[in-house]
Amino acid sequence: MTEPKPKSHGRLSISASSKPRDLMDGPPRVKGAWMAKVVTLFPDAFPGTLGLSLTGKALDMGLWSLVPIDLRPFGEGRHKNVDDNPAGGGAGMVLRADIVGKALAEAAIGTPSDRARWPVIYLSPRGRRFDQAMARRFAQGDGLTLLCGRFEGVDERVLEQFGVEEVSLGDFVLTGGEIAAQALIDATVRLIPRVLGNHESAEEESFSEGLLEFPQYTRPTLWEGRAIPEILLSGHHAKIADWRRGMAERLTKERRPDLWRAYCAAHGRDPDEDQEL
Ligand code: SAH
Repeated sequence: MTEPKPKSHGRLSISASSKPRDLMDGPPRVKGAWMAKVVTLFPDAFPGTLGLSLTGKALDMGLWSLVPIDLRPFGEGRHKNVDDNPAGGGAGMVLRADIVGKALAEAAIGTPSDRARWPVIYLSPRGRRFDQAMARRFAQGDGLTLLCGRFEGVDERVLEQFGVEEVSLGDFVLTGGEIAAQALIDATVRLIPRVLGNHESAEEESFSEGLLEFPQYTRPTLWEGRAIPEILLSGHHAKIADWRRGMAERLTKERRPDLWRAYCAAHGRDPDEDQEL
């Protein structure tokens, strides 16, 4: 019997390679695409929610990429210990500088040493509060490395040694840095061109102009006796834009006096002026 002519499998055609199959089957990488490297004891937590919806699609398309780096194999001894008791006593455990250092050194391979292009970040309640401006700065770089803490955190010396920037999600304490890392990556990745699809929505939403977003409505036009504001159904685009700006300003003034003052200062306006609507 003669061998049948091999069928073409297109992109998946079989070729000799020393690489294991699962490494070759990863999502396509667009050259120079923004990349997040995440040092964590829980690499299975990634991509997590980042694998869903728009960020997930963009990840599949290679518009950005994610490299979890498992901290455990860098650990010491049979049990791959990564932590030890805090110097000076006290509760909890601290991630060791030498172990975390080895993981950060591995993460640094192939990345620019210029921290402006590639920030190295420790998610930490002591850090500067994460905000939209920071997300914009991160999106403009080539990528970043995130260190997720666990237990009481990490040995201070490793933060100094690697020029690590500390970033906080807010004034509360999480159990680990993984959820914070996902929030930071999500907010950053959606500012990368083509990730959101509709780029206007990134320009109009909360914080992009220093204001909170105006209220949104959709069908049904009447629900539980509540109507959609008439102006939004008028088709009058200029009036709708005015109404939305007015609402955004009013909401910001009411809810976030700090943002409102900054907005007024940037636009030469009196923060105490009356909001007529
Ligand atoms: N002992 C530390 C808290 C450790 S919580 C302190 O009091 O500052 C364990 C880990 O969760 C931290 O190392 C950090 O990576 C992460 N984490 C906790 N709260 C966070 C927050 N608000 N923002 C970002 N990361 C946080």
